[in-house]
Amino acid sequence: MSENLKVAIIGAGMSGILAAIKLKEFGIKNITIFEKGDGVGGTWRENSYPGLHCDVPSHHYTYSFERNPNWSNYYSSGPEIRKYFEGIFFKNDLDQICLFKTEIISLSFKEGVWEIITNKSKTYKANIVIGATGVLHHPYLPDIEGINNFNGDKFHSARWDHGLSLKDKKIGVIGSGSTGIQIVSALSGKCKHLYHFQRTAQWMMPLENGSFSDEEKLSFQDPKNLSEAMNFEEYFNAVEIYSQALLDKNSIGANEIAFACKENLEKNIHNEELKKRLTPDHTPLCKRLIWSSDYYPAIQRSECTLIAEPIKKIVNEGIELSDNNVIDLDVIVFATGFKVDQFLRPIKTFGIDGIYLDDYWKEYPKAYLSIAIPKFPNLFLLNGPNGPVGNFSLIDIAEQQMNYILELIKIIRKRQCHIDVKTDITETYERERAAAAKKTVWYTGGCTSWYLNAAGIPASWPWTYKDFKKEMSKPDLDAFELLNE
Ligand code: NAP
Repeated sequence: MSENLKVAIIGAGMSGILAAIKLKEFGIKNITIFEKGDGVGGTWRENSYPGLHCDVPSHHYTYSFERNPNWSNYYSSGPEIRKYFEGIFFKNDLDQICLFKTEIISLSFKEGVWEIITNKSKTYKANIVIGATGVLHHPYLPDIEGINNFNGDKFHSARWDHGLSLKDKKIGVIGSGSTGIQIVSALSGKCKHLYHFQRTAQWMMPLENGSFSDEEKLSFQDPKNLSEAMNFEEYFNAVEIYSQALLDKNSIGANEIAFACKENLEKNIHNEELKKRLTPDHTPLCKRLIWSSDYYPAIQRSECTLIAEPIKKIVNEGIELSDNNVIDLDVIVFATGFKVDQFLRPIKTFGIDGIYLDDYWKEYPKAYLSIAIPKFPNLFLLNGPNGPVGNFSLIDIAEQQMNYILELIKIIRKRQCHIDVKTDITETYERERAAAAKKTVWYTGGCTSWYLNAAGIPASWPWTYKDFKKEMSKPDLDAFELLNE
């Protein structure tokens, strides 16, 4: 098997592209990427709403081996990020190994090999499977009464209808997460009237987005200049302070963030009644922090209204509030987030002795270090369950996870075996993770959010960034069993 190791990668998003490049570098020749969509970029392909951008600094939101001196802005727009991933995909000839519009229906571990069945009723075999399926891409539509009664246009933020002219329309945006805030910031003043329906107010950090000059871009062609501009020491210090703030709401960093958010609100909202409605009742960082200097000006424009009265139902002509007022609308945008507990699903995945992944994940999704699942040998996940989906670059996280996976693949290649994480190790790890997660601000901060799983436990890495880095530096082989040696 070592010479002809076949690897299947699920997804051609940021982490699938990364996996393919790293595996090629590693000398693996037989790689297939299965992509259910018709293009590259994952979340950056599926999301195309107005105002879409990334709140991680542009130069840090790149692969470490493929920095980009040409970013237009300090924080990049969605289309520019998508273009970056497409460029790398083609530069590495990944189009030669990628099957688009090919959705995997089932994955079964049979006689030491993964059997993969696709929507085209074709069967493939692989020795190793890498799930690079992303987290935030299964749209969540809320269970609001009358949702199908609306006579106008309606869509989820990740299914933007670009054929629709919004200029003369009354638009309602439901949701005040990062997505809703970016959409409202972009559309305010660009349509007849914009209504922002907010169920829970959010804390916001200011984020000024400037652009790089041509001289700067030219100077960044020299890796030394780019590296200096990226100021890794300062960046990773900030990441560490941020991750400590998530773990301890009384830490110095948490207090500084809280102070900055309160000052931002105080300084930039001029009407006391509006300020009251925009003041959250939870600790900053409990929900995913919003980074924006555009929203407060946007919501104070005369063509924009914040609606904090709860939604009662959706009716033919718009949205009825709990005070029985009806807001007339032409378009409703659901910026209501994603089902974040899917990972490999809806793929039907069966491990050793036919164990069904949905059964193992009945309570909620679990994986050792968010990478490996017991009884699913040689199946590894990038950005899997309970990983660090905080406010730092997920690309950096995926790179570290991929290095870890490559260490395991090295063993598979050398020893011609399957690697299976031990069940007891995984259970102990998850118990410790859950206990630590209950000390984080996601749990103690007095809010609900997509960070909480079905059991009410934060589904995220509950230790610091440095801890993550250390853990990823080398697999602890005692945690794994080598099968069929
Ligand atoms: P989200 O954070 O889950 O926010 C969903 C919003 O919809 C919340 O405001 C929620 O209100 C509201 N909502 C849900 N059901 C509702 C209902 N029945 N009635 C009224 N309101 C309802 O989703 P998101 O904004 O799409 O963001 C998801 C994640 O994507 C972010 O946290 C972030 O990690 C990522 N993201 C990142 C960027 C970036 O710049 N890097 C940009 C966009 C998204 P409650 O708060 O009351 O539940």
